[in-house]
Amino acid sequence: AVPLVVAVSTALAAKSGLLIRDRSAFENARSLQAVVFDKTGTLTEGRFGVTDIVPLGPMDENGILGMAASLESGSEHLIAAGIVKSAKEIGIILKPAAGFRAIPGKGVEGTIDGKTYMVVSPGYLKEKNIEASNEKMGDIREQGKTVVYLLEDEKPMGAIALADVIRKESREAVARLKQMGIKCMMLTGDNRSVAKHVADELGLDEYFAEVLPHEKVNKIKEVQEKYRVAMVGDGINDAPALVQADVGIAIGAGTDVAIESADIVLVGNDPREVVDIIVLSRRTYTKMV
Ligand code: ADP
Ligand code: MG
Repeated sequence: AVPLVVAVSTALAAKSGLLIRDRSAFENARSLQAVVFDKTGTLTEGRFGVTDIVPLGPMDENGILGMAASLESGSEHLIAAGIVKSAKEIGIILKPAAGFRAIPGKGVEGTIDGKTYMVVSPGYLKEKNIEASNEKMGDIREQGKTVVYLLEDEKPMGAIALADVIRKESREAVARLKQMGIKCMMLTGDNRSVAKHVADELGLDEYFAEVLPHEKVNKIKEVQEKYRVAMVGDGINDAPALVQADVGIAIGAGTDVAIESADIVLVGNDPREVVDIIVLSRRTYTKMV
């Protein structure tokens, strides 16, 4: 039988917008020492909009956006959604892409009009030794924007900068967790300057940037050597890390895979609910002993 206090607490949890899928994880939440947040879609809203396009070859801005959007219409990534939305807003007609392929944590690839196009991360360019520097890019990076590159047959055609918004609840969530003596960290596949910007804004204790999807689990294991840890995420690529963490927490608006991998779901998409979980867990399980 379920003890009365637990039953009452899960009812309370439901009322505050939490879906508890694993009761023992909820119990573990009382002794958490660190919370690792995913960035995009978790600490931020994940609603990207294109803010700048910098030509790096013969294509003009609309050409760059059009090709990138044509390719990205095959992707489910939040960056892809931002590029497609921005192209459609200015009436660009998308072209069909053949042989679409996602490169996890790096970008996308496909063929349009017989040429190979890619939209990729700065890390991918570095890895392939592709030079794509431009004066304007420095400023954009300092503004904490996410930058991706359009390549045509491996040659850089342009850079696309996108801005996302930090959830207004994230700041309070981090401040309250730190007050409780819990370390706040961030794990992201995005580049270091964007990560630093968000980490500084929120006052995070630590952050890990340019982490490839398959490396996220190992980062959690590393943190677990020192702390009992919760992972909070929304994406397909967060799912293994959610399973690995002592407590896996998914954003309700996240992907199905993340929700299915989590112990607790934040139905309200509010990172402050992570604090509620810990408080509620402490109250519930200290009453029982
Ligand atoms: P996260 O979910 O932590 O933001 P991902 O691992 O999904 O990170 O992606 C890491 C990086 O890979 C992105 O910041 C971007 O540079 C690149 N990337 C991934 N998918 C795409 C895509 N569909 N289009 C463009 N870039 C992408
Ligand atoms: Mg995410």
